Amino acid sequence: MEIMLIPHAGFCSGVKRAVELASQAARENGKVYSLGPIIHNSQVIERLHQEGVEVVHRLDQINKGTVIIRSHGVPPSVILQAQKRRLNVIDATCPIVKRAQNVAQLLHSDGYVVIIVGDRNHYEVKSILGFAGKGARVVKSPEGLRKIGEKKLGILSQTTQSVDNFCRVVSRAVAIAEEVRAFNTICEAMQSRQEETAALSRKADLMFVVGGLESANTQRLSRISQETGCQTYQIEEAAEIEYNWLNGKKRIGVSAGASTPDWIIEEVLDKLRH
Ligand code: SF4
Repeated sequence: MEIMLIPHAGFCSGVKRAVELASQAARENGKVYSLGPIIHNSQVIERLHQEGVEVVHRLDQINKGTVIIRSHGVPPSVILQAQKRRLNVIDATCPIVKRAQNVAQLLHSDGYVVIIVGDRNHYEVKSILGFAGKGARVVKSPEGLRKIGEKKLGILSQTTQSVDNFCRVVSRAVAIAEEVRAFNTICEAMQSRQEETAALSRKADLMFVVGGLESANTQRLSRISQETGCQTYQIEEAAEIEYNWLNGKKRIGVSAGASTPDWIIEEVLDKLRH
């Protein structure tokens, strides 16, 4: 049986930085808080908890000390609120998400109605929306532009969107608005993981996509793999693998989301090899 792993499996630079900043802050301060889980991976959150990183969901749950802003970022109002409460803020917003926030702010200040292509319920999109000014909208697909009457549109994307969907929204916008300015804010780390997952699932008889069940980027990789017609299991850890799934399979592919640590990927590969 051949076992193949995508070249860019596991932590992206933004997640790695956020986890390291949280870990370092806990070492220096004893106990720190993260506003929401630092990443969507329960095993990593548990490890960080043991190091002293406690997850809270609202700033009023913290009386004093240090709060870490996770890689998805937050709207500016949240930073202001933290400062008002005299909390020490460590901003672990991924620089690529930060760029999307800056682009939204720039487009708004230049008089464009900001359109974000993405999932309105995702925390990253909520954070970008906070910089996008009055009238900004979130659309999932070109159909989302149907009721938009403004003539000057500034478009950017959630970092995990597909280039294809982003381009379709931009081309619909060009047809309905007088002026369109578009910035590609899609993260290359995500793009490469998506392309590699699609390519590997076309070669494999069976795919495992490893990552947190709530991780949007892991879910997307799983969907991409399934869409190629390859039998795909999304798993959080090696213990979930049942050996009878491997019966008759010759080529096993493994992919992993940007929030999946190396040690979990290694455990999965080890189990498949034995
Ligand atoms: S996937 Fe890209 S945008 Fe998201 S945290 Fe990682 S590097 Fe940053």
